[in-house]
Amino acid sequence: MARYTGAVCKLCRREGKKLFLKGERCYTQKCSIDKRSYAPGQHGQGRKKSSEYGIQLRAKQTARRYYGIPETQFHKYFIMAENRQGVTGENLLILCESRLDNVVYSAGWASSRSQARQFVNHGHITVNGKKCDIPSYLLKVGDKIEIKEKSKSTEEFKSVLEANSARPVPQWISSADAKATIERLPEREEISVPVEEHLIVEFYSR
Ligand code: SF4
Repeated sequence: MARYTGAVCKLCRREGKKLFLKGERCYTQKCSIDKRSYAPGQHGQGRKKSSEYGIQLRAKQTARRYYGIPETQFHKYFIMAENRQGVTGENLLILCESRLDNVVYSAGWASSRSQARQFVNHGHITVNGKKCDIPSYLLKVGDKIEIKEKSKSTEEFKSVLEANSARPVPQWISSADAKATIERLPEREEISVPVEEHLIVEFYSR
């Protein structure tokens, strides 16, 4: 499925949750979900009772949209998660968190995951000293990522780093001076995606 390129605030309104897709705007009073907390479209304000399937579908879509992952790839992560030891739902979220674009965002080097994806696509990020322009690259414990020296000194990066300097970096990532290391995999309670992952497992297990 192609990546969604429409108005991203509609995605939050559809899920009824803040998915933090627009960077700084999400933390201001301009956030659309604070102003219009109903689903978009003609029937958005109608009260509909969700079926079990509908609830599971919304959980899956929420997680997918939160991380900006296309359906095919998300389903692939689910299969990988099933084949790993441990709880499938948690494994799935850990895989999503381990993506290079997510780590670039979590380290405070981008205002949103989509901006992080763009920075990776444009070749501004290195993994273990080598350029990596694959946003879905799955990082492992011990991997070191860095903003390229040349990129770091651009006005764009300077202002993004400044704007995000107060955002807390999760403890499983150590980050300083535009360099970061994956210290360990995240624990479930360190993952803030607003979903109950067992619903996603149930969705794909139907
Ligand atoms: Fe979602 Fe951010 Fe738009 Fe608010 S501003 S609706 S959190 S993308």
